[in-house]
Amino acid sequence: MVKEVYSSSDWCAWSESTAGIDPPIRFAVIGDPVEHSASPAMHNAALDKCGIAARYTRLHIHPAELPEAVKRLASNGLSGVNITIPHKAAALPLVDRVDPHAARIGAINTIAVEGNGLLGYNTDGPGLVRAIRAEFGVDLRDLRIMILGAGGGAGRAVAMQCAIENCERLVLVNRTAEKLTELVSAASLIFQSTRLIGPGQRVEVVPWDLEVLRFQLQQIDLVINCTPIGMKRSDPSPIPASILDPSLMVYDTIYTSERTRLMQAADEAGARSANGLWMLLYQGALAFEIWNTREAPIDAMRAALLARRG
Ligand code: NAP
Repeated sequence: MVKEVYSSSDWCAWSESTAGIDPPIRFAVIGDPVEHSASPAMHNAALDKCGIAARYTRLHIHPAELPEAVKRLASNGLSGVNITIPHKAAALPLVDRVDPHAARIGAINTIAVEGNGLLGYNTDGPGLVRAIRAEFGVDLRDLRIMILGAGGGAGRAVAMQCAIENCERLVLVNRTAEKLTELVSAASLIFQSTRLIGPGQRVEVVPWDLEVLRFQLQQIDLVINCTPIGMKRSDPSPIPASILDPSLMVYDTIYTSERTRLMQAADEAGARSANGLWMLLYQGALAFEIWNTREAPIDAMRAALLARRG
């Protein structure tokens, strides 16, 4: 029987921990925490639908153990893994080759094992583009966007994707503002390279201060939460309803509940909102296609996610 979550000690004794499991575990998501991840449901449905004899599971790996854990991917017989909170940036230097899109982003969420080599990719940004189109019927390039938690692995991928899509304005917010110095330069370079740069600053860092955010939000169309605030039941909304305008679109990358705390704040303000489930779906479908070099069965994956939510 495949366990819900494997620990790092299981990973170090993988053949004993997984003895007798058939079909074998070939895919996993690595994170800390990782118990919440809906990726196994979605990927196992896709593997079944395509008749691929393999299973996908969760690996709980602490940050200090990540380099050793990544080294064991090929010898433990895995074909691919997803990388989630908080490992996306730390995993990038641990692979042998990085896809150019992921290199530009500076973080990876997908590793493919090819022979003894590891290839890193980032499907979070393209997943977000599809999710925003599906949820709100708009494209990132038309929007003024604020990202909360832009300094994390997901926040960085989302910010760079917004720049690549040439969004109208990008406002980056992070609890630790210093973490944004390099990102803001990288995003500015992308805007400059589009040659469509208009008057004024296209990308800006603002402090996580309620009054500053209230002012900034008056000139924003879409707010994206890339912090984990809201993953735990006891968490508040990362920003209060009182600073949200009814004209805003609010996207929470968290998908642990149908209506996250931030979505509840958006409801209170009369704003449209969505959780991160479709971003998870689309980034997962792209990862599946990298590993299996075939089209992902998106309907089966979507159905598995909806069934899990109940
Ligand atoms: P990460 O690399 O650990 O980054 C966390 C970010 O959140 C950092 O910017 C951090 O700021 C900020 N943060 C953490 N706690 C905070 C707090 N109490 N107050 C203010 N800011 C705080 O994690 P990640 O991999 O980017 O994941 C972040 C979230 O995105 C998770 O909830 C994850 O589920 C979600 N996500 C969803 C999808 C999807 O497909 N739906 C994909 C990717 C990620 P500091 O820099 O100051 O520490």
